[in-house]
Amino acid sequence: MQRKYIVMTGGVLSGLGKGVALASIGKILSSNYKVVPIKCDGYLNADPGTMSPTEHGEVFVLDDGTEVDMDFGHYERFLNISCESIWNLTMGKVFDMIREKERKGDYLGKTVQMIPHVSDFIKNYFVETGEKTNADIVLIEIGGTVGDLENELYIEAIKNLAQDIGKENVLFIHLTYVPIPMGVNEQKSKPTQQSVALLKQRGIDPQIIIARCSQMLTDNVKKKIARSANLNEEEIITGVDVDNIYKIPIIFEKQGISQLLARKLNIPVQHNLERWKDLIMKRENAQDEITIAIAGKYTALEDSYASIVEAIHHCEAHLNVKVKIKWIETSDEKLRDEMLGKVHGVIVPGGFGSRGVEGKISMIKYCRENKIPFLGICYGLQLAVVEFARNVCSLSGANTTEVDPQCKYPVIDFVEGQEKIERKGGTMRLGEYPALIKEGSLIESLYNSNKVSERHRHRYEVNPEFHKILLEMGLVFSGVSPDGKLVEFLELQKEVHPYFVATQAHPELKSKLESPAPMFFGLVKAAIERANSLGTWNKELTKDVSFEIDSNSSS
Ligand code: GLN
Repeated sequence: MQRKYIVMTGGVLSGLGKGVALASIGKILSSNYKVVPIKCDGYLNADPGTMSPTEHGEVFVLDDGTEVDMDFGHYERFLNISCESIWNLTMGKVFDMIREKERKGDYLGKTVQMIPHVSDFIKNYFVETGEKTNADIVLIEIGGTVGDLENELYIEAIKNLAQDIGKENVLFIHLTYVPIPMGVNEQKSKPTQQSVALLKQRGIDPQIIIARCSQMLTDNVKKKIARSANLNEEEIITGVDVDNIYKIPIIFEKQGISQLLARKLNIPVQHNLERWKDLIMKRENAQDEITIAIAGKYTALEDSYASIVEAIHHCEAHLNVKVKIKWIETSDEKLRDEMLGKVHGVIVPGGFGSRGVEGKISMIKYCRENKIPFLGICYGLQLAVVEFARNVCSLSGANTTEVDPQCKYPVIDFVEGQEKIERKGGTMRLGEYPALIKEGSLIESLYNSNKVSERHRHRYEVNPEFHKILLEMGLVFSGVSPDGKLVEFLELQKEVHPYFVATQAHPELKSKLESPAPMFFGLVKAAIERANSLGTWNKELTKDVSFEIDSNSSS
C-alpha cells in the first residue's frame, strides 16, 4: 500500500498530550497496519538524557540504550512496540548531521541554508524512516506549539512532504485547547481559531482538529471552530480530560475517528479494541482500593516518574483493585513512619545525587523491619544495599560513592571502566541487558523465566568486594549479569519478608496495560494481601462516574 503519514501539530499550549492523542490514533490503526512513530523536538540537545526530569519529564530509555522523550513511553505502551533511536529527531541531532554532511563536502559549492537544505533533510528523514521500517503508517509528532521558532523547520518539512507525495497521503491533525475561564463559565474557541490561523499562514490546512477541554465541546463551539478552520463539525473531536489516558482511544472512537481516518486516508480502518476496553472496564469496576507510596526527589512533578505511575496502574485491571499513589518525601522520621504505617506497599524509584537519600534509606529500613511490601528500582536497589549493609551487616558508615566518595564501606561504587568519562550525554550503562535468574527465587516466579532482560540507566553498581558479606547475612542475589559480576536483582527470603525485591534495571519501562511488569504486579499483589490481612482497605474509593463504554460503539 502507499505509505501514509499522519502529522500532529499543537497549538495554544504545550503539554496538552499530543503524544497520547497520536498514540491513541496509532492504537486504533495498529490493529491492521504497521504503525511507526517519529517524535520531533525543537531543542538543541542531542537527546533529553542531559536534561533535568523536573524540566522535561522522565528520560525514557529504549532497548538500544537511546535516551528519548517520555512520549516514547506512550507510543510503546499504546502500540505494543519497541521503539528505535532513529524515531526520535531533535534539532540538536539535525544540526549535527547537517554539519557533518557539510564538512564531508555533500553541499560543495552551495550556500547551506535553513530552507531548503535543513527542511529538505528533515523531509527526507521522514521518508527514509518510513522506508527503513517498512511502515504502512508513519505518525509524526511535532513537539511544542505552532509558531515556536525552533519548530518552524519541521513545519516547513511536513508542508513540503505533502506537496511531494500528495495531500491525500499526509493527514494533518492539530491539537488545541478550549479553556473554560473561571467566572465566564463557557467554552472559548478563540485560542483555537488563532492557532489554526497560525498554521494556515504556514501553508498547512489541518484536516482534523482535536480540542482538549475539561468538558465535551458544545455544538456551538464545534461549529465555530469548524467554520474558522474550513472543516465540517464531525472533523472536530473533543480530547476531553480523563482520569486514565487509556480511555482516550475509546473516547475518540465514540466520536467516529475511525470513519474519519478511513475517509481522510482512503484506507479501510477496522480496529480491535475489545481487550483494551475489557481491561479499562475491569479497572473501572474494581471495588477495593489500596495505597502505594513512592519515595522520590522529584515529588513536585509526577512526570519525572511517569513510567512508574503507569506500571502501577497497569496492574489494577489484572488484580481487580484501584491503586492510590502517595508521594512521600520527608526527613522527619516520626512523620514518615506514621505515613508508611498507612500504606500497603512502597516503591523507592531511581534517582541521582544525595538529596533525600537518608530519608529513603530509613524508609527502606522501615519496610524491611515492618514487612511492608517493597520494590526498589535502580537507586532504590542501591540504597536497599546500603541499608542492609549498615543495619544487618553492621557496616556502619556504608554508603554509595555517589553520595560519599570517601565513605568507609563503599558498598555501591562506579561501574568499572567509567571513571574517566568526561562527556555527560549517553555515558551511563544504558539499554537492555540480560540477567540470569536464580532458581527458586521470587524473581524467577514473578517472571516465570530464568533469563530476563530489562532496560538500564545508571553508573553505579553493587561493589563486588561486598558480595560475600551481603550474601552471608541473608541478602539473596536473585539475578546477576551473565558473567556473574553485576547484581541485577535482589530479594529477601520469603521466610524473612513477604515481598522485598529490588532491581538495578527499570522494569517500568517495558510495562504495558495488557502485560504489566512482573515486579510491579508482585508488589500490588503483596500490597493487596497486606490490606486483606490487616483489614486496612482505603475507605473512600476514587470513582470516575463520568465514563461509560457503550457496547455498541465498536465497529
Ligand atoms: N544514581 C544511580 C546511578 O547512577 C542510580 C541511577 C538511577 O536510579 N537511574 O547508578
